[in-house]
Amino acid sequence: MMLDSFPEDIKPHIIPRVKGDLYYKCLGCSLEYPIEKLLYVCPECNEVLLIHDRDAKELKKIPGAVWQKIFNFRKMLTIPALKGIYRYHEFIGPCMPLESIIYLGEGNTPVIEASQNLKEKIGLSFFYKNDGQNPSASFKDRGMASAVSSIKYLIDKKIISDVIAVCASTGDTSAAAALYTSYLGPKIKSAVLLPHNKVTSQQLSQPLGSGARVFEIPGVFDDCMKIVEHLSTRYPVALLNSKNAWRILGQESYSYEIAQDFEWDMKDKAVIIPIGNAGNISAVMNGFIKFYEADIIDCLPKIIGVQSEQADPVFQYFLEPDDSKRKFIPVDTKPSVAQAAMIGNPVSMPRVAHIVKQYNRLAGCEHVFFIQVKEQSIMDCQLLANRNGHIACTQGGECLAGLVQALKQGIVTNRETAILDATAHAIKFSEFQDLYFKSKIPQGYNITPDPYNINLPSLILPDNQNLVPSQKKRLKKKDFEKFVKDISDKIAERLNLKIS
Ligand SMILES: *Cc1c(COP(=O)(O)O)cnc(C)c1O
Ligand SMILES: [Zn+2]
Repeated sequence: MMLDSFPEDIKPHIIPRVKGDLYYKCLGCSLEYPIEKLLYVCPECNEVLLIHDRDAKELKKIPGAVWQKIFNFRKMLTIPALKGIYRYHEFIGPCMPLESIIYLGEGNTPVIEASQNLKEKIGLSFFYKNDGQNPSASFKDRGMASAVSSIKYLIDKKIISDVIAVCASTGDTSAAAALYTSYLGPKIKSAVLLPHNKVTSQQLSQPLGSGARVFEIPGVFDDCMKIVEHLSTRYPVALLNSKNAWRILGQESYSYEIAQDFEWDMKDKAVIIPIGNAGNISAVMNGFIKFYEADIIDCLPKIIGVQSEQADPVFQYFLEPDDSKRKFIPVDTKPSVAQAAMIGNPVSMPRVAHIVKQYNRLAGCEHVFFIQVKEQSIMDCQLLANRNGHIACTQGGECLAGLVQALKQGIVTNRETAILDATAHAIKFSEFQDLYFKSKIPQGYNITPDPYNINLPSLILPDNQNLVPSQKKRLKKKDFEKFVKDISDKIAERLNLKIS
């Protein structure tokens, strides 16, 4: 390692030491609980928790510009524990010894500028941050690295042993949970609950491949979540859903990376996030707030949360402008291609409600917005993005649909730069693309395929269909040459190629 060549002012800080004084705080009754407990909701009032650091003011003793330098130089380190989300150790989990940190390649995802063509079509400059390039192909790995590291920390400290970790999932949480727990080996086993027929086959294959116990349950995600909650109050299990406040801490890394990706300049930036359980948007706002309070960034970006009209409880909640009059009402979801965000009763609703107020107050103006989009627009935007060199999933399409809508409503202007969360890799949701291309999207989705967007393979067969190559019987040289010429001519004809 080249630590010796690092600048003097950051040398003492470059390898983080265990510090901080973390605790859980209830969002309902404000009671505080020690961090060394497996705790998901307040034992007094059953409300969700957030993790705070009593020593957070210590972070301000280091000037913002020095923090920036620390994080920039940390990028050069080769210590596995610091290569992912824990580059921001002091802000993510300062109590965590490096030996307890699990790193499977999460975080540090690329920020890809929208192609020239796409920028012109949409009418402003924007970027996709490709969180589908995480190890289990979604952003959930960020929070999972944090939550599973926190379990390893408790195991290492001999506070717990032989853990059974459980979660309910719209697909990606279970993939991440199964991956990270399997890495820890037999000390921790995982069980995941999935709504039957409501996750893609790729998402189902992931926890199966990682060796988790997979239970499929009739109903939707919200029903699975109730079962997991019931289990976690009656049995000694570790909950890996975003109820677990460690998940939120880990997901804050998304904001820290954006700040660093844009060289700490958040002026005229808008960050666009799809909302399901609302864990991610809570974490993203929290992350920017922490960096703002530590003077690492000098302004807060706009935050735009997007929901499909088929599953929009958070959008509905914020329709009421007077926050003292807002009342949360869960919705019954309808089918959505943004299936990972198809949630009617978001677990993190109290967190969003709380953090939005704080965010707007710090920004000094309304800085968090909620947008509702149509299924048609989600699907068409995803296909448009991917035809222009991106790898957006349906939720990434939802972000682009949200951006288009935000421009229309004047929430962003073309003088701003938007950063869209491509929350998972396109291939996880290719089943929806497939249904669209085959014009087989079930009615409830309210999507009519645009013929221009449809793309299907063409099977090219030779005139003589008995003369085709096979692994069992090779063609004779002459026949094979004929086959090659015949097929080439047919392709050339389809592509309108002329002999040069
Ligand atoms: C989980 C998930 C979401 C929604 O995030 P929340 O934290 O539940 O709001 C969006 N997109 C993808 C791909 C997801 O896996
Ligand atoms: Zn409480």
